[in-house]
Amino acid sequence: MDKIKQDLMKEVADLIKQGGVVAFTGAGISVESGIPPFRGAKGLWSKYNPEEYAYIETFLRNPEKVWIMLREMYRCFSEAKPNLAHLVLAEFETKGYLEAVITQNIDSLHQKAGSKKVIELHGSGDRLVCLDCEKEYPFIEEYLKLTPYPKCKRCNKPLKPAIVFFGEPLPEKALSQAFELVKSCKVLIVIGTSGVVYPAAYLPYEAKRSGAKIIEINPEESAYTNSITDYFFKEKAGEFFKNLSFFYN
Ligand code: NAD
Ligand code: ZN
Repeated sequence: MDKIKQDLMKEVADLIKQGGVVAFTGAGISVESGIPPFRGAKGLWSKYNPEEYAYIETFLRNPEKVWIMLREMYRCFSEAKPNLAHLVLAEFETKGYLEAVITQNIDSLHQKAGSKKVIELHGSGDRLVCLDCEKEYPFIEEYLKLTPYPKCKRCNKPLKPAIVFFGEPLPEKALSQAFELVKSCKVLIVIGTSGVVYPAAYLPYEAKRSGAKIIEINPEESAYTNSITDYFFKEKAGEFFKNLSFFYN
């Protein structure tokens, strides 16, 4: 690490230690856990175009087809473990630096890492819901064996993971909590999000408008990098947190 990078790392570590930090995470934080992001067409999503398969109309028309993709998605999730980035965010919360994680992810890896306050903007794969009677069922592996798809015990309609599909509204409570958090935080750490999926993508702009410093970690530039980011670390999340650890001990 060169001197300029070291100084920057130290500045960021000091900022974080002052507290009032919120993290905003996207698919990129889970890449090093083995879950591919949507963009950059790799793995799962080159086989199943998310804009087709994760579209609510497709599910309503043809749940059987969408469940073929969902089975693979769940297998991918079940093999994934939290990585250093998820773990350090949980540690920041324990130390009192971090107030909450706002995530667009549906893989539950923040919770598995030990984070307590996690706002899930796009829902979660940890439960299934009946679109007809709204009854919820905690997700268990057994559901993946049911053909053509798991059904509601009450109305026999197809069950859908409680994740927000394209064309569906975001959970209102999570969205309003997220806006409250970014309006009052001092620092927003934006990790692994391209910043193009709205309305979630508004959050960093709102944080900046309210006076927060924006720290961004992404191996690629995002919609935020050249507009609102104060500290840009052009690297993988795991690499960033490994480097940052030198400034904590
Ligand atoms: P995205 O796929 O649009 O973008 C991912 C971003 O992560 C990119 O900017 C990429 O450069 C960056 N990235 C790649 N590897 C990284 C690494 N090792 N460390 C840090 N950053 C890395 O994802 P998005 O912006 O989150 O939006 C896509 C939508 O897809 C979201 O709504 C999300 O819910 C959903 N999604 C979720 C998962 C998951 O739960 N793990 C996976 C795929 C997609
Ligand atoms: Zn039902």
